[in-house]
Amino acid sequence: MLDVERIYAEYIESKQEKRNKKYAKYEGLLGASSTGYCHKKQYYKLTDSEAEKASERVSRLLRLGTVVHSEIEKAIKAWNKSHDTKIYTEHQVKIPELRVVGHIDILELYPYVSRIYDFKTVASFKWRKKFGRFKNRDPNTDTTYKLQLGSYGLGVGKKPENTELYLVWYNKDDSSMKPPVKVDSVWMKFAKEYWIELWKNIDSWMVGGVNPDDIKVDGKHSPMDTSIFTGVKQEKMWECNYCQYSERCNSPYYTKKRKSRQLKIT
Ligand code: SF4
Repeated sequence: MLDVERIYAEYIESKQEKRNKKYAKYEGLLGASSTGYCHKKQYYKLTDSEAEKASERVSRLLRLGTVVHSEIEKAIKAWNKSHDTKIYTEHQVKIPELRVVGHIDILELYPYVSRIYDFKTVASFKWRKKFGRFKNRDPNTDTTYKLQLGSYGLGVGKKPENTELYLVWYNKDDSSMKPPVKVDSVWMKFAKEYWIELWKNIDSWMVGGVNPDDIKVDGKHSPMDTSIFTGVKQEKMWECNYCQYSERCNSPYYTKKRKSRQLKIT
């Protein structure tokens, strides 16, 4: 009997390796899709620190998102051929002064306006936080998505008043979609502030030769507090439970049982 699960896992891994090679050329830059992430996590990535491997199940979930992305991208390309439009897919943007690189899912580029669309394939839990019953909604559920769009806006380089940002939501549990949801272009300003603050921290850690493992996450702030705590900024504490560096990080916000080593949180 064929071990289909294993074969698929190897296939996904080979795709991931190809992707890592593709991104290796952007050394010294960080991805626009990581706008809003914890500063310590960004430093781990930049210093090429060893990350944990995602489980096969999580890898499949991520792959599913990639497949949906690629399908929509093909649909847009096909549609583009038969219409008089200026639409680009997977359009690369670089912001050298902020040391950021990214790829925009769809970009409509006209002389006076640019429209930027980013696809979000999410599970039902997240979907409900955005579109569910009013009392179950969380206005902060898409903060990092908005910041990401803000970075793309900066990368395109038009003024905020000439830039339109949209999130395209896709529920991967039941294939529901929504019309693109407009996001205020003020997120371009917030994204810029994020990168400036991040690089201030990273540059000081680099100059001081700081080992990312030694940056202490103090745990003195409430889970909803987005301010800086001991040099590590996160949008959400729950970021720790989904972080690929959580096993080596001293964060007290990582609430799962540590697998490989016991870290003392003081
Ligand atoms: S575990 Fe949490 S604090 Fe540590 S790097 Fe990851 S997100 Fe940041």
